[in-house]
This record gives sequence, structure tokens and C-alpha cells, in this order.
Amino acid sequence: MRTSYQYKLKPNKEQREKIDKTLEMLRYQYNYLLAQRFDWYEQNRCSIDRCPLICHLPDLKENPNYSTQKASLVQLKKDRPWYKEIHSQVLQEVPKKVEITFDRWLKGDCNGKKSGRPRFKGQGQYKTFTYPSFKRHHLTNNKITLSKIGDIKVTVHRPIPDGFDIKTASITKKADGYYVTLSLDDKTVPTIKPDFDSDNIVGIDVGLIDFLVTSDNERIIAPKFLRSSERKLKSAQRRVSRRKKGSIRRKKAIKKLGSQHKKVADTRKDFHFKTAKTLLNRYDVVAVEKLNIKGLTKTRLGKSVNDAGWGQFINILSNKAENAGLKVIAVNPNGTSQECSSCGHKVKKPLSQRMHNCPLCHASLCRDLNAAINIKNRGASGLKAQSMSS
Ligand SMILES: [Zn+2]
Repeated sequence: MRTSYQYKLKPNKEQREKIDKTLEMLRYQYNYLLAQRFDWYEQNRCSIDRCPLICHLPDLKENPNYSTQKASLVQLKKDRPWYKEIHSQVLQEVPKKVEITFDRWLKGDCNGKKSGRPRFKGQGQYKTFTYPSFKRHHLTNNKITLSKIGDIKVTVHRPIPDGFDIKTASITKKADGYYVTLSLDDKTVPTIKPDFDSDNIVGIDVGLIDFLVTSDNERIIAPKFLRSSERKLKSAQRRVSRRKKGSIRRKKAIKKLGSQHKKVADTRKDFHFKTAKTLLNRYDVVAVEKLNIKGLTKTRLGKSVNDAGWGQFINILSNKAENAGLKVIAVNPNGTSQECSSCGHKVKKPLSQRMHNCPLCHASLCRDLNAAINIKNRGASGLKAQSMSS
């Protein structure tokens, strides 16, 4: 079982400067390595739509990859000795990061989902660095020891549970200060709940107005304070765009926007955790629509205002379920809102139509509920197929 804990850091002025400097240096290196990748890519890729009969093959430079870029760091430290001020493993995380973003762009992630073209990071946009092999004894009740930075005061508001190993430590600069995120691992936790009941299943669908609708016709609405802080975020965004570029007033507005962003993100996350907990307290299996690119563009995008953070919610839900020995099952999202949940007949309807009315079996129910029931049924049969094959 893997989980992560985040604590607030209280670095002194000197330590803050060191962290900021490290982030800046890593940002430069990130941009440099990314540029190297783009260079190679632009020079060596084949244009798809036309192929000249005669072409001059340039000398193929070696394709930069994780290991060659990682090896180049040795030379970097010779040419720019100040990079020795960064812990070597922290520095090595940069080519890894570049490799991951580049691969996601060209090949897609493990689900084949492709990301956009990687971007260069502007000042202040490089916010996290990671110690990939953090030692447990470097964290005490009120102090964390970070190599090359020092002993930083930390607020351990909840202790790390027994039996957990600290795998990595990431330092992040946020709008309101510095944080450390520890990823923890425990292999002793059982993977299935003792009285697990696969019939105790619920389907959930993202609602048009509500955050989600369950197959038992329960609606979970995003809390008022989240919606109001989202509105404040929007007005903060507008304020920034009204201000003149480069002005002090714009800088101030940007700072405010940053803290509003953080506020919304925190409240939303908190709401997602609570909602996941409520669901998993009552059900052993939660069926959701599989999120994929097709699903996102065809059925999701523009479907509802609650799409913001739906992916995050599913992640939280899946992690929580796994940790409790419960299950989240992802089902094929195609046609869940069109299909009739009682007879299976396809009833086409525009997004504006809130009700599902079936001409065959005369079922009449809210479209979100209809979809949630379909998701539940698909989840139940998916679960049966899984248990038969194992
Ligand atoms: Zn029907």
C-alpha cells in the first residue's frame, strides 16, 4: 500500500534562498535538456505528408535519452561548478522528468493517453524537486534534514504510521510557503477486506448540476464554499487580464490569483476526500466510467461544470479503496447516457434533455440516474467476469 503525507516546512531565510536557488537552477537545466530533445526531434523526424524522392540525410546525432542526458550532468558540474550545490540524485531527477514529459507527448502514458507538447518553464514555474531515496532517520518530530540545504523546521501534524517506509521526499514551493511530500510504502496491509461483498455495489456518474449522482439516486453537490471560492478565482483571473503587463498592480493581482488557486485546489481536494470516504463507508464496490481521451472528448468535455477535478476524484477514490481492501471498477463509458437502464434500448437525446424517457418499456427517470444505473450494471458484470477468470 502506498500513500503520501504532506507537511508544511518552516525554512529560515537562508534555507528559503537555497531552495529557491535550487529550483531556479533545476529549471534552467530542465529547459536546456528539453531543448536538446526538441532539437533532435525537429532535425530527425520524417515529415509524414510528403516524402522527397531525393533527400540528403544529415548525420544522425545520437538521440538524447535519459541515460545520455543523465551522463551529461557530470560535464555540467565541471562547466558550471555551482551545480555541485545540488544533491546529485535531485539533479538526476531532471532528465527523468524530461523523459517522462517527452514520452507522454510522443507515445502517451500507460493507457495510451497523450499529453500536449512539453513547455519550457518560465521563472517560478518550476516548483518541485525530489529526493528519490530519502532516509527515514532524516525526519524527526520537528526537523527534516535535506542534503545540501540543511535542517529545516517542519510541522509534523500527524505522525507517520508504524510499519511505513519513506520512499521519496519532494519539496514544493506553493503560493503560501514550502511543503514536503513524503511518499510512504507499507507492504503489510491486507489487499482485500475480510467481509468484502461484491453485491454491495454502486454506480456513479458525474452530474450536470450535481457533483455526482449514484445509482441509488443520491446526489452529492459540491459545497457552497467551494463554489463561491471558484467564483472568486474567476474574478481574480479577470483582474489579472485587465491589468497592464509588467505593472506592479498586475504583479499584485497575480500573487492574489496564486493564493486563490491554492485555496480552490485545497477545498476541492478536501471535498473529494470526504466524498470518497462517504461512498466507501457504504459500498464495497464503486463503478465509474473509464476515463480515456475518447471519453473525455466525446462524452465528458463540456458535459458539466463538475468535470473540473473529476479525474482527481477518481484517483483519490481508487487509492482509498485499495487501501481499505475495497474496489473501484472502471467501465466502458460508451452510450451510458443513451442506453435505457431497464431494457437496454438506445434512446438518443441531446445534452439539454434532462430526462430519459424510453418509448419501449416506458421507463422515465432522470438522465444522470439512468446513466449511473447503467454504470453500476456494467460494473457488476465486469466484476463477475473478473472473478470467473481468476
Ligand atoms: Zn427501456
